[in-house]
Amino acid sequence: MTDLAPSSPKRTYDALLQDVEEGLRSGRFKTGDQLPGERILAEKYGISRASVREAMRILDVVGVIRSPSGAGPKSGAVFVSEPSAGLSSTLRLHIASNRLAVKDIVETRILLETWAAQAAVQHDNPQGIQRARELLMGMDAPDIDYETFHTLDAQFHLALSALAGNTVIDTVMDSLSGSVRGYIKEALVSLGQWPVVLAELRAHHHAIFAAVEDKNGGLAADLLRKHIGWLYDQTTNAHSLGASGGEG
Ligand SMILES: [Zn+2]
Repeated sequence: MTDLAPSSPKRTYDALLQDVEEGLRSGRFKTGDQLPGERILAEKYGISRASVREAMRILDVVGVIRSPSGAGPKSGAVFVSEPSAGLSSTLRLHIASNRLAVKDIVETRILLETWAAQAAVQHDNPQGIQRARELLMGMDAPDIDYETFHTLDAQFHLALSALAGNTVIDTVMDSLSGSVRGYIKEALVSLGQWPVVLAELRAHHHAIFAAVEDKNGGLAADLLRKHIGWLYDQTTNAHSLGASGGEG
């Protein structure tokens, strides 16, 4: 029973994937460990080297291993822990194929960020607050371009959510913001009113940060909800997605 290796149809490399999953769970494998080379794995699991490569590609895509660059047959892949990388690219592809609506991603973001803002009140994390403050200051740079701003903006939201101290939320948040990054950037560029939007976003961020710093979780949550909703309305207008958008 594993997500990576569904029971049917049975694939030749399922045993390898199951063993990796079991090994990670039990602590037999951990981040930084190197997997044996292709030939050894093929022998161990009684499968072809092509099957080993296929399994390695799956583990690479989901962010569990990183294959060495210029991989010779002897050099093994290394275990990494990049859950958000795998989730993010999966979400992005499903958004691209219209299986996941941006609106739904945005609603999920609002749900998680407002929850995190309220949960953060119970934690003291001066380093986390400082990290958010630095990002806030970074976004105040006078001649900032939208691309830099947008990168810092995403990091700012992640830094705020991280104050809740829930790594699952952090991972999902990272994936969600990664999955709609291209969409938002495109919209901000096409808005053509960047200075106006910039001033508005800065004001939102300062108010949100002040509420978080004051440990006013209710206010921070409320401001986050408005901020994310406002940005979505702007991007919806820019994309002219009347059918799937709000009132705008
Ligand atoms: Zn923001």
